[in-house]
Amino acid sequence: MNIHEYQAKELLAKFGVPVPAGFSAMTVDEAVEASSKLPGPLYVVKAQIHAGGRGKGKFKELGPDAKGGVRLAKTADEVRAHATDMLGNTLVTIQTGEAGKQVNRLYVTDGVDIAKEFYLALLVNRATGRVSMVASTEGGMDIETVAHDTPERIHSIDIDTATGFMPHHGRAVAAALELTGDLAKQAASVASKLYDAFLGTDAEQIEINPLAVTDDGKLVVLDAKVGFDGNAMFRHKDLMDLRDTTEEDTMELEASKYDLAYIKLDGDIGCMVNGAGLAMATMDIIKLNGMFPAN
Ligand code: ADP
Ligand code: MG
Repeated sequence: MNIHEYQAKELLAKFGVPVPAGFSAMTVDEAVEASSKLPGPLYVVKAQIHAGGRGKGKFKELGPDAKGGVRLAKTADEVRAHATDMLGNTLVTIQTGEAGKQVNRLYVTDGVDIAKEFYLALLVNRATGRVSMVASTEGGMDIETVAHDTPERIHSIDIDTATGFMPHHGRAVAAALELTGDLAKQAASVASKLYDAFLGTDAEQIEINPLAVTDDGKLVVLDAKVGFDGNAMFRHKDLMDLRDTTEEDTMELEASKYDLAYIKLDGDIGCMVNGAGLAMATMDIIKLNGMFPAN
């Protein structure tokens, strides 16, 4: 189960992770009001959809020269203009597919002066059965591209859940981000809190891209993608409230009511299969014969 950036940041803040202040908004007036509660002088208006690449994304209804789904604003009027542009329109990013996603909610947040952007993610390493922290100095970019072009710039640090997060893990994360002194201490502290959040929520993924150093030497989370392990949700009734079913495929949503594992695909051949391995093999055979599975 995935949640929005604004929800992820509120959740991470509860674990002591440093995030800029911000408010979510569903109307243009709410967006302007949100900015009035922030100190300024810089605001960021961010489209809330369950997909990344929003900054470089394009709105279907606006021309190709229009700005994307993450926009800086210096005044309330600029916040109003951006919110008017975004709300109700369809944002297409590298992660949404061609259909794009309708923007029904915005997050208006403090703009920070960025000195450098990093990448830091937590996930389950299935090969080692441990929690893996993936750190890179190449933040703000598409991590798949970094992994492909410069794999040496991606560092994985495994944490054994039996012993938990130790000071040396924090030092390893700081070293991977090439940070020293006070920033290294901040990186270790952020990593430790993210680990607490990961375990505490039964997360499947926490991806911070970017984790930024500000001009005044503070490490802050500027973007957060958080997904939970669906099998553990019965232990987290409070987290279930964060579910936004409008972000989910209507067919998948219907199937989930009957506890069916249904995944919509783009092809024409319907598959009714028993077990993940058989499903994969069936799809392989269909593709091998030049057709595409519908689900
Ligand atoms: P996405 O990954 O979906 O494009 P991000 O939240 O990562 O969205 O935003 C894209 C870029 O916008 C970031 O890499 C960062 O450079 C900038 N940005 C995001 N939030 C802020 C902020 N609060 N202050 C200043 N710049 C920001
Ligand atoms: Mg991002």
